[in-house]
Amino acid sequence: LEEQNRFRNEHGIKAVGRHVPSALKDFSELTSRYNVSSALVETITQCGYTEPTPVQRQALPCMLEDRQILACAPTGSGKTAAFLVPLLHVLGGAQGGPRALILCPTRELAHQIYREALRLSASTQLRCSVIRNVKESKVKEREATIRKSDIVISTPNRLCYLLNQDNVNISLDKVRWLIIDEADKLFEGSADQTSDFRQQLEQVLTACGSKQRRVAMFSATHTPAVAKWCRHNLRGLIAITVGQRNA
Ligand code: ADP
Ligand code: MG
Repeated sequence: LEEQNRFRNEHGIKAVGRHVPSALKDFSELTSRYNVSSALVETITQCGYTEPTPVQRQALPCMLEDRQILACAPTGSGKTAAFLVPLLHVLGGAQGGPRALILCPTRELAHQIYREALRLSASTQLRCSVIRNVKESKVKEREATIRKSDIVISTPNRLCYLLNQDNVNISLDKVRWLIIDEADKLFEGSADQTSDFRQQLEQVLTACGSKQRRVAMFSATHTPAVAKWCRHNLRGLIAITVGQRNA
């Protein structure tokens, strides 16, 4: 335990919660501890990721142990791979669903996450998609794409627009992981946010009917509103903070 604390300190990691899994020493531990395929670990290395970043060291073991997290780490610290790698492992083979849903504030960000997902999923058969522009005539096509995808990435607006269509034929029943990226921005709202994010999140969580559903939140800043929501809504929460808190 002492050694774990020292190791976390060295990497500027703070983790608060019950039974926090130990931080990752290197990517190969993913295989020895969690049986992550060596093909996936190889892909990570081929992406040029030789060592896990601090947020990855702590978030990966937590998510692989099915723990709900709030992870705050600076911009550019590798949060995307911190949630994608566990998803790629736990989802296993292609089954559609979707079984993981990633919400983020903007379309640009959704596409960045999508590109990283394509790179990291190279050794898997998993399908990822971004919910694109929803014109009414295209709703049926969008629904089919979503059903076939294992991982769906969207802004809350686009997802909720689809969910609120009449005769909507997509189900989030199989969603095992809901990832909220840039949670600070989503909670504070922005210009193109047509409706309150909390309400949208409520709707999405209700639609994610699975009892085993887990939530992981990622944020560049520590914001009290996000922390409070997580404490109230996420059982067994582990709060991970990397570097300085800039509340
Ligand atoms: P954040 O979401 O925290 O702002 P990103 O996930 O966008 O950060 O990652 C920032 C950059 O770091 C990206 O170019 C990504 O490819 C790269 N990166 C991620 N993880 C690692 C790693 N373990 N080693 C080296 N580079 C990494
Ligand atoms: Mg990011």
